[in-house]
Amino acid sequence: MCSVDPDEIVEMTRATGGLDLSSGNVTCRKCNTEKAVVVLRMKDAYCRECFLSYFVHKFRSTIGKSKQIRLGDQILIATSGGVSSSALLHLVREGLDESSHKKLRFEPACLYIDESCLSDDSPDAGPEFVQQVCNRVLSRKFPCYVISLEHIMSSQPPVPTLYIEDGSAELSTSLELKEQLRKLLSSCKTDSAKQDLLEQLRRELLCQCAGALGYSKIFLADNATSLSVSILSNVALGRGSQLSDRVHFKARHKDIEIYRPMRELLQNEIHYYNDLHEISTVEAPSFKHKGSSIISCTEQFVMGLQKEFPATIPTIFRTGDKLVSTSTEMSKCSTPELNDHIDTDFSPIMLCVMCGLQLDTLQSESSAVQATIVSQRLSRIVAPTTKPEESVAEDTNCSYDTSSTSNIPPQEHSLDNVKSNNGCTVSSNGVGTNSCDCSQQTCCSSSKDKALLDANNSVPKDILDGYLCYGCRIIVRELEEVNRLPIKVRGSVAEQERRKHMREQIQDFLL
Ligand SMILES: [Zn+2]
Ligand SMILES: [Zn+2]
Repeated sequence: MCSVDPDEIVEMTRATGGLDLSSGNVTCRKCNTEKAVVVLRMKDAYCRECFLSYFVHKFRSTIGKSKQIRLGDQILIATSGGVSSSALLHLVREGLDESSHKKLRFEPACLYIDESCLSDDSPDAGPEFVQQVCNRVLSRKFPCYVISLEHIMSSQPPVPTLYIEDGSAELSTSLELKEQLRKLLSSCKTDSAKQDLLEQLRRELLCQCAGALGYSKIFLADNATSLSVSILSNVALGRGSQLSDRVHFKARHKDIEIYRPMRELLQNEIHYYNDLHEISTVEAPSFKHKGSSIISCTEQFVMGLQKEFPATIPTIFRTGDKLVSTSTEMSKCSTPELNDHIDTDFSPIMLCVMCGLQLDTLQSESSAVQATIVSQRLSRIVAPTTKPEESVAEDTNCSYDTSSTSNIPPQEHSLDNVKSNNGCTVSSNGVGTNSCDCSQQTCCSSSKDKALLDANNSVPKDILDGYLCYGCRIIVRELEEVNRLPIKVRGSVAEQERRKHMREQIQDFLL
């Protein structure tokens, strides 16, 4: 069945009318005997048995060829009750129950993150949907844990609730945390930032829950279609260097390994699989973006193109699969002065405090990200009256020109002064929380020490920036209030800053 691999589609040819099965006379192209019930790639017809064996083979081979999942591994399956995760649960159950040598041999449990607190339409419908999703999980004989998304705002480690069939296990919710989460998302100025932020929060909570439950491996139900959209949207969101962590079969989030066993399967194939097995799905309430975000526009673009050119998704998917960032090695920064706010001596691999992925901002001077950073700083120094939005727009098109720095007074080359300017510009426009209202650069450089973190773990925007990857910096740039971010994010910045200052203080005494 490998002969129907999407790899074989290499030409972007326009679709010319799909095969119609309504006459009932079309036979399966694989066995040539049975009546076809499924059409793939517009013209390839398969009978039920041939399609299901192709589908299951794709799923099993994705897990098998990686050789990462071992006998007795405990795996937490993230489920949403949707099309892809419902199919994943069915596939795993079938695999575990099989008697042949191909039987799956790991020990799964499921986790459902209730996002009803974000829904404008049905914010109180959470318990009802929790029951629906969890009962489906229990019907597959998997233990099911539940947690509400608002717990990402808590300072305590999350404690997922084990769901029991009669629904007696009360889902722990907190009105205060809900309100904090809503305020955080509503302080995002754009839908793109909001969706991206939500994605990071969800992923972080999932990994925190896995850690709390003692699981070190997670299965996600991302499929080839959703991953193709992710590939393009992540690049557009400034997360191109993180593609391997976001779309490859295996990714690492701190101590947790994330796997995507459905990644070879297309969305329409999953729909066919669910239909043939009569698997019902639930569309649980969550955040519904009302405007146009980068992710929704990318999705419309890819799906529209896919209708006319069936090779679109396989082409994007296979191309994205080959893209690997070289930033891991390049983070041994060749220009430490550009990143002197980062304590690289203490942490050889710096992780973004928000998304948990490796920092991609510790790049060499000639990198695109440093060009953008330098350009942003220069825009603010040379034209302090320029509105932030304008400077950002210019920045993205601006190339790094070292000669342009020659017009800047020598003292303004220092990072502290540049950071001070950032703080003042932000503050004077009423954006952000940096309390410094001064116009003197020297004031702000001293505020770096005093404003580090108070009892509430409030973090100045410019200091927070230093601990964020490029994609997360864009989110923070779109936030009206950075101190609405989860307390754990701010706490992590606080801890790293304290260690950095401690090191500076004892530096002369170190051998
Ligand atoms: Zn057949
Ligand atoms: Zn990040």
